[in-house]
Amino acid sequence: MPLLPKRFERLQAVLNGRMANLTVLLEGVEKPHNLSAILRSCDAVGALEAHVVSLKGRVRTFNSTAQGSQKWVPLRDHSSIENACQHLRKQGFRLFGTQLGVNAIDYRQCDFTGPTAFVLGAEKWGLTDTASAVVDQSIFIPMGGMVQSLNVSVAAAILLFEALRQRQQAELVPCNGEGLTPDQYEKILFEWSYPQVASWCNDIQRPYPILNELGEIIEQLPRTLKLRC
Ligand code: SAM
Repeated sequence: MPLLPKRFERLQAVLNGRMANLTVLLEGVEKPHNLSAILRSCDAVGALEAHVVSLKGRVRTFNSTAQGSQKWVPLRDHSSIENACQHLRKQGFRLFGTQLGVNAIDYRQCDFTGPTAFVLGAEKWGLTDTASAVVDQSIFIPMGGMVQSLNVSVAAAILLFEALRQRQQAELVPCNGEGLTPDQYEKILFEWSYPQVASWCNDIQRPYPILNELGEIIEQLPRTLKLRC
């Protein structure tokens, strides 16, 4: 079944607003409802992908809280917090560690218009000392109640939406795909439009077929392939 034009337009509209320079790095966050809610917030603000350092041996799951956002915001795995931070720093990200420690500053004093990664800690323990030591800046969300901290997905949402607000104010939110490289844009648009074809191409290591302006595949593919979105 070929892609419906309205569906293709919607995929393009969402991708046009995606930002490769806004992300979260989750250290040991593993409760399905928290992971799901964080990915849903990433999707809502337009973060291209998220990063995670998982506790060893734990199988990651999502639940209905995600509303399918794990399909639109890939979660990239890293073997350690040091590797993850190094990976993001190489891409030019400034790492904001989230915690209530003495060196942390109020998040409202920070500029999130440049490449920004929020590093969030595990539900029970927060960030490890290693993570706290490698981030560029520690930040906190002021708390006024009896409980010392927020749920991690709530903290993530507050920070992501503050980054979006600052970027909107600075007119830095992409609306024509300029938040991605042209290669990234083309690749992701194909994968979102034709996931089964994309995985077939990856399996046999061939390039993705070209799409026309209506989102149709113009070359003849094996009949056994499902063209459903
Ligand atoms: N006892 C832990 C601690 O001291 O960090 C609490 C962890 S908290 C439930 C889980 C994560 O949510 C934290 O590691 C941090 O990433 C984020 N978080 C929660 N409340 C926050 C706040 N007020 N400011 C910044 N980050 C917060």
